[in-house]
Amino acid sequence: MPLSPDQQAEIEELRSQPQQTLRAVSPGMEAHLYHARPVLDHGFVRVVDYMGDDAAITQAARVSYGRGTKSVSNDEGLIRYLMRHWHSTPFEMCEIKLHVKLPVFVARQWIRHRTANVNEYSARYSILDREFYIPEADALAAQSTVNNQGRGAALTGEEAERVLRYLRDDAMRAYDHYEEMISTEGQDGLARELARMNLPANIYTQWYWKVDLHNLLHFLRLRADSHAQYEIRVYADAICEMVKDWVPFAYRAFEDYRMGGATLSAAGLECVRRMLKGEEVTQENSGMSKGEWREFQGLIG
Ligand SMILES: Cc1cc2nc3c(=O)[nH]c(=O)nc-3n(C[C@H](O)[C@H](O)[C@H](O)COP(=O)(O)OP(=O)(O)OC[C@H]3O[C@@H](n4cnc5c(N)ncnc54)[C@H](O)[C@@H]3O)c2cc1C
Repeated sequence: MPLSPDQQAEIEELRSQPQQTLRAVSPGMEAHLYHARPVLDHGFVRVVDYMGDDAAITQAARVSYGRGTKSVSNDEGLIRYLMRHWHSTPFEMCEIKLHVKLPVFVARQWIRHRTANVNEYSARYSILDREFYIPEADALAAQSTVNNQGRGAALTGEEAERVLRYLRDDAMRAYDHYEEMISTEGQDGLARELARMNLPANIYTQWYWKVDLHNLLHFLRLRADSHAQYEIRVYADAICEMVKDWVPFAYRAFEDYRMGGATLSAAGLECVRRMLKGEEVTQENSGMSKGEWREFQGLIG
């Protein structure tokens, strides 16, 4: 179950008491506030709190550029200018606090993003739930033959059934032993902080994750990207939907310059210039390695 009955009751209680505020409010984000968005089989992501909106970004920028800046005539134009020129600090004026439920192996990737504040469910203090991520059939993929850090086509037939059976059986057996070890019925019971060590990495954990918009967009650029592992990408995709409604101007600029855009090396830029002049450019005369050339061709189609 994504949310426990206690968590659901707490959310409903909070939603039933709207507060008046003089603070900036993003109507798009208000609609997301407290709603848990299901991700994977037992996970979710929900907005607990946020600060700022598109106007907070331009307000901060105008401290440095002054209200009279003529080169950027409106808020969206200014936000696009800031994004285009890597002016990061105005985006740090907005913050978001998320409650995320996610498998431990996804959390290990997520925690590498050091520029957030994290508070995780304590498995020393509390007993973990019997909830494990078991992939859907189409996410149960074979090792990629072209990318050591990726997956290929979905497993099928007897192999798929056997893998799913192993994943379920191993998780259940490990959890049975966990419960048995911490039980105090007729025994002392092993400490929770020790008993948890035999649990597999597909067990779910939960945390509160607070980050500013600049670092959140950095996280999303890496984790909503097609190269990111599917299981973290689905969380990033869910967060993208929230950011889109929270700060629509900033999100549009992010999609345009970061997600949809690309960076060219000096050699790559020179090749484009030569191509535009009608010159035939090949890998051999490009000044790029085979790998760079392959990526360059992928970029320019
Ligand atoms: C597709 C993919 C594959 C990956 N594969 C691997 C892997 O095989 N092995 C592995 O170990 N990791 C791997 N990673 C993790 C990756 O190397 C980064 O650790 C992770 O993406 C966090 O990025 P970050 O440091 O930019 O983010 P954050 O920690 O959020 O930092 C954001 C930015 O702040 C700055 N910053 C933060 N902390 C410091 C600091 N202490 N010193 C200097 N600057 C700082 C940097 O500019 C940084 O880019 C992978 C990531 C991706 C997206």
